[in-house]
Amino acid sequence: MEIIRVKDAQAGGKKAFELIEAAINEGAGVLGLATGSTPETLYQEMIHSSRDYSEIVSINLDEYVGLSSEDSQSYRQFMNQHLFNEKPFKESFVPNGKAENLQAECTRYDQIIAEHPIDLQILGIGQNGHIGFNEPGTAFDSQTHLVDLTESTINANKRFFDKVEDVPTQALSMGIGSIMKAKKIILMAYGENKQAAIKGMIDGEVTEALPASVLQNHPNVVVIVDEAAAATL
Ligand code: PGA
Repeated sequence: MEIIRVKDAQAGGKKAFELIEAAINEGAGVLGLATGSTPETLYQEMIHSSRDYSEIVSINLDEYVGLSSEDSQSYRQFMNQHLFNEKPFKESFVPNGKAENLQAECTRYDQIIAEHPIDLQILGIGQNGHIGFNEPGTAFDSQTHLVDLTESTINANKRFFDKVEDVPTQALSMGIGSIMKAKKIILMAYGENKQAAIKGMIDGEVTEALPASVLQNHPNVVVIVDEAAAATL
């Protein structure tokens, strides 16, 4: 893993943007994208750039179960608001959290990933070390699947909702196996509350108890960390 230390999330967003630009210039045509607070500064850089993404395909990591793509709390809407409304892509895939048959939706999503191999995957990391919504204990060879969110994740995400009861308890998530197939991965982490997960991911053992530790087995990973997240490295 290459570790890049930056001052703060602003600088991290700039760095990640530079890496994406380099990848696109070298022919990358499929970006794996993520939601959450972490990629927001990156998406700002993308919005304010002159880059045209209309020939690029994006594939998002995950979506809450039970929220329609029109719901303001859905990850589809998050992506629209933070990136796609300003910078439309050729096609932008997000799992359908309202699918009648969730298993069939997982299969459909895996087909999409198979048809559009991801050149560059953007990741944040959960305080419990999750990537996407792959919570601790998820098999390293998992494909897209239905996830029961952990209490830690529900609590971490309640800030986006009026009350904790409104946070969905399930999600559809790209699997760890699918994430590991991306040619290049950029994981960003900012803030003191990510310190332990980052330390475990980089210096700890590779274990399904800390999903992000699997990235030690990937040949092309860049980790962008701010001072607070990197303090114990
Ligand atoms: P955050 O979430 O970017 O909102 O901190 C990251 C994650 O849970 O993967």
